[in-house]
Amino acid sequence: MEKVIIVGSGCAGLTAAIYAARANLSPLVLEGRQPGGQLSTTTMVENFPGFPEGIDGPQLIINMHEQAEKFGARFAYSEVTDYDPQPDHVRIKADDEWLETRALIVASGASARWLGLENEEKLVGHGLTSCATCDGAFYRNVPVCVIGGGDSAAEESLFLTRFASKVYLIHRRDALRASKIMADRVLACEQIEPIWNTVVTRYVPDEKGEMSAVVLRNVQTHEERELPVACVFVAIGHDPNTKAFQGKLETDPDGYLLVRHLAESKHPGVFIAGDVADRVYKQAITAAGSGCAAAMEAEKYLGALGK
Ligand code: NAP
Repeated sequence: MEKVIIVGSGCAGLTAAIYAARANLSPLVLEGRQPGGQLSTTTMVENFPGFPEGIDGPQLIINMHEQAEKFGARFAYSEVTDYDPQPDHVRIKADDEWLETRALIVASGASARWLGLENEEKLVGHGLTSCATCDGAFYRNVPVCVIGGGDSAAEESLFLTRFASKVYLIHRRDALRASKIMADRVLACEQIEPIWNTVVTRYVPDEKGEMSAVVLRNVQTHEERELPVACVFVAIGHDPNTKAFQGKLETDPDGYLLVRHLAESKHPGVFIAGDVADRVYKQAITAAGSGCAAAMEAEKYLGALGK
């Protein structure tokens, strides 16, 4: 029987791990298939307090991981596939094995959303991606496009100017949702050409199955045209990772887990942290804060149980 299992190793899960480990609870962190969460695929984080020069997202995650490990957190790459709450403990299925824990912290984060167009799955890795940090360097001196109008789209576009000959930023409206500082940078960058009021209706692969163009439709004039690009970077937001908890923990209509009070879920001993429950802020620092709260609530819960 574990004392604390933490599902997820992004900013929320690792902060929970640091707090739980420092409380001598020796937490087990189930990292899942994308260890490090969204920060591991981002570039410079400029708004995490304490880093006036900014810090690389992956480096921030490495630091948190080391900090948690130093205090006794343990890590496993297992993916959680099922969940079975009991009156005084929780059973959780990680890969094929059922684990038991007194307290569970769900910090499973959110995953990139896709457009749902034809051939999408086949084209991922062949000129279609949701991660500029991972794949941007493969597309040097060729035109690429980014889809979306939020901070992610802005950040990816700016990052891609290091490699691509041209970055088209395709947005369905005529104004960016991104924060003003990011939007101003994008709009001031000559290498980025915004294409407003426009959606992608089709990916066009070449004869080798690699992306060669996208078909665009202007949502006001309904005109369609083809835009040659070597890679499409989709940055249209994220969906919460709740598959293992569906129908068991409460969610809002969009699938985000509902937190009842502080970090508590409806099941005793089960706490929630980070983007899996956050449809508003979705920041590294808010995820870290909620991870801290979840670990402290778990510690309080275990103390009351006398465990
Ligand atoms: P987001 O803020 O939800 O923005 C998603 C964008 O994609 C919106 O512009 C949206 O259009 C567009 N979109 C959504 N579905 C679409 C579809 N089916 N087709 C075409 N366009 C679609 O997501 P995000 O940019 O990933 O950011 C998430 C959170 O992380 C935000 O809170 C953001 O501030 C934060 N973040 C911060 C940083 C930073 O500070 N450096 C970097 C990355 C992310 P509409 O605008 O029309 O809704």
